[in-house]
Amino acid sequence: MITLCLLGRGGQGIKSAARIVGTAAFLSGWNVQDQPLYGAERRGGPVNAFIRISVDPILERGPVTDPSLLVIADYTLLADPSMADYKASALDRGSFVFVNSSKSPEYIRSKYGINSPLWTLDLTEMAEEILGTQMISAALAGATGRMLNQDFGDLEQAVTLELENIGIGEKDIQRNVALAKKAFESLMPVDIAAIHREERQEPGFVNLTYHGPLLSTCSIISAGNSQARRVGEWSRFKPVINYDGCTKCRICFVYCPDSAITIGKDDYPIINYDACKGCDICHSECPVKVISLVKREGTN
Ligand code: SF4
Ligand code: SF4
Repeated sequence: MITLCLLGRGGQGIKSAARIVGTAAFLSGWNVQDQPLYGAERRGGPVNAFIRISVDPILERGPVTDPSLLVIADYTLLADPSMADYKASALDRGSFVFVNSSKSPEYIRSKYGINSPLWTLDLTEMAEEILGTQMISAALAGATGRMLNQDFGDLEQAVTLELENIGIGEKDIQRNVALAKKAFESLMPVDIAAIHREERQEPGFVNLTYHGPLLSTCSIISAGNSQARRVGEWSRFKPVINYDGCTKCRICFVYCPDSAITIGKDDYPIINYDACKGCDICHSECPVKVISLVKREGTN
């Protein structure tokens, strides 16, 4: 059995990426299981998805903690406490690791002390170029599919099926197929499937892993948690307000999900960049479009 963990942030399309990879494997004739795991809806918050692919019926259930392939959609997660779950297994044990980043594999391995074979590719840049957004589900599926040596025809069909299911229009589906293809062709095939067919043994029993309820959720019952967690480190872009056109309507203040916007004495909104995760909501909601998104230095 090949097992995968996809770790990313709410809004990146992690759940859809897992669906696409799973559906492509199913179309290729494998038994497949895929499941997402995330807490209360929170754009930018950690999201996990797990995939099991096997020639035999899959009896295991629950999260995968010891994956054949660990896919990390946002490299800032490597510094997140939740990564401890994978430290002793995937990152030290020699699972294959893919990281969405413009940084080199050597840089990521040495900065985060990773001993596993690791690949990097800047999927966010590709998505911005082809889709004009940071939605990387198709790119992530393309890169993951390549590492599994999947057939691109099955991946293409899976992108179409899964995006149709969530109501994406034909034109955008074609753009996502192009994105998946670009990511797919930018990596060399690794054929983890073949390696793991030889090396891994089937467990032969149902493995119900216990997972604490706080996994992947923000711990709002822990004192001082929201202050301690600088979600600004998640962000690749930051919103910048052009005060000349601001009408002081406060809509950005109301919509910001992380209370990163406060209202100053002069009634203008002020953004706290330590608390701003770059979710894009204030930029989308500002009625007079005076908030622009600017790339933060040194991200991805
Ligand atoms: S300030 Fe804007 S971009 Fe930042 S978290 Fe709030 S809504 Fe999202
Ligand atoms: S939503 Fe736009 S116009 Fe309204 S307060 Fe915020 S920045 Fe100003």
